[in-house]
Amino acid sequence: MTQTASRTLAERLQEFVGKPYGGPTVARDPVNEPMIRHLTDALGDRNPVYTDESFAKRSVHGGIVAPATSLQVWTMQGLVPRRSDGEDPQSRLMSMVDAEGYVGVVATNCEQIYHRYLRPGDLLTVSSEVESVTGPKTTGLGEGYFITTLQTYRDQSGEVVGEMRFRILKFKPSTPKPKKSDIPPPPRDSAFFWEGVEAGELRIQRCSSCGTLRHPPRPLCWKCRSKEWDFIVASGRGEVYSFVVHHRPEVPGRTHPFAVALVSLAEGTRIVGNVIDVDPSDVRIGMGVELVFADNERGRTLPQWRPAR
Ligand SMILES: [Zn+2]
Repeated sequence: MTQTASRTLAERLQEFVGKPYGGPTVARDPVNEPMIRHLTDALGDRNPVYTDESFAKRSVHGGIVAPATSLQVWTMQGLVPRRSDGEDPQSRLMSMVDAEGYVGVVATNCEQIYHRYLRPGDLLTVSSEVESVTGPKTTGLGEGYFITTLQTYRDQSGEVVGEMRFRILKFKPSTPKPKKSDIPPPPRDSAFFWEGVEAGELRIQRCSSCGTLRHPPRPLCWKCRSKEWDFIVASGRGEVYSFVVHHRPEVPGRTHPFAVALVSLAEGTRIVGNVIDVDPSDVRIGMGVELVFADNERGRTLPQWRPAR
């Protein structure tokens, strides 16, 4: 085992602390009055010191200034993401935690320090470093690492005009544990089906009057309208009548993609179920499948299907 592989994620993350994380990035535009107007309009801030030149001249500022809280705005990258070769510290840190399953992200804290007001014409440059990494910690969202970065904003002469501490939690989304309350009791019409699943049987409803099979369970025969029914135990042989391969949206706790099929039972009705133990791209219409009782991601046993052996 190499030295790198033997170190824990927590140890490897500590190597980023105190080192550059992003930038220096120069703002796309200098601080300017049109953007200040858009910002104060959006915020509903009517203070004339931001927009009224003659008022601002008479104020303590001696001219128009930008709201202090606009600090971060000026160096934002806009809607088109900057290209990265994946080798910058931020990309390396993020791929390191992602690779260990900490794929969730949520911002938890933001503190800003303003050293002076910004004025039209100021051209900001931001650079950041990793201030601290703590973890793994258990949180309500799942186990994760708190990553705090310190952004330093400088003007065109190199003077520090503001700072921002930004903390995120990178977490491993926890799989919800099955709770009794998650699984509603089956309705009366389908209780026999779920009792069958518990007993390892695939029970299919049958009209007692005309013998027609039906699934999912329902109170009335679609063919003869009889309310009388019993059930058969299916052999568990069938074939794929139709299917989908699900990629997105991601279903918590599941591995993607996965295949869901409409299976024609040998006995003559159809049932929807996951197709497992096969690469989803290998599922085909007409493929022979056999029944297997397997737990889903919430720990509930379901009739599922795998290629017939
Ligand atoms: Zn019938």
